[in-house]
Amino acid sequence: MSSATGGLRELHQVHLDLDACQKQLENGPRRIAAHEKKLANKQAEIDAHKADITTLQKTADGKNLQIRTNEQTVADTKAKLNQAKSNVEFDIFKGQIAKAEKANATLEDEYLELLEQVDAENTRLGELNGELKAAEASLQTTKDDFAALEPQVKTQAADLETELREAEKCIPTKMMEQYRRLVIAHGPSTLAPLDASACSECFVELSPQNIVEVRTAKIVICKSCGRILYSPDA
Ligand SMILES: [Zn+2]
Repeated sequence: MSSATGGLRELHQVHLDLDACQKQLENGPRRIAAHEKKLANKQAEIDAHKADITTLQKTADGKNLQIRTNEQTVADTKAKLNQAKSNVEFDIFKGQIAKAEKANATLEDEYLELLEQVDAENTRLGELNGELKAAEASLQTTKDDFAALEPQVKTQAADLETELREAEKCIPTKMMEQYRRLVIAHGPSTLAPLDASACSECFVELSPQNIVEVRTAKIVICKSCGRILYSPDA
């Protein structure tokens, strides 16, 4: 087995390792951004919830004020009963009292219902605040994890860049330009090992002559998918 073929396998491995490093470096900030978005959404949910509670509380306060106004009306009108100048006036006062008391019976039911709603919404607000704290903790953990990982992955990537330049020496100079174009097009899968007699990238069978060429260290580019082929057991 030729060292050039082994060189292609090594070159492929360096490409794969470097790609894994780059993905780690990209995934960290992406993950942090996703956690930040989740946190912002939770905060927005809490703000909307607080606004709902304020509206409910204001409505409840309005009902309470109406109740107290009606109670005052009842008290004032009751005081007037004794001073009624006629039966008609007496009946009018009685009617006003009955009307205010009836209105209050309904208002009190509505007021209690609103207070219960405020209680329930406050309970939910407590849960949401717990979820917010959990989201904050997750974000911090993600940031800390990436901050710890990033320097070592960057060092690893820099080492791999050096290894890549070394490993690329197995590409003949006359093919270098084509190789660069393939790397831009296919990234780490620019190279593909043979899978028995087929290209492992596109699964198209190679001609017997091409197989021999791959096995004897000639650089063969898959006619179907354009990958540089190498023998996996070189
Ligand atoms: Zn192929």
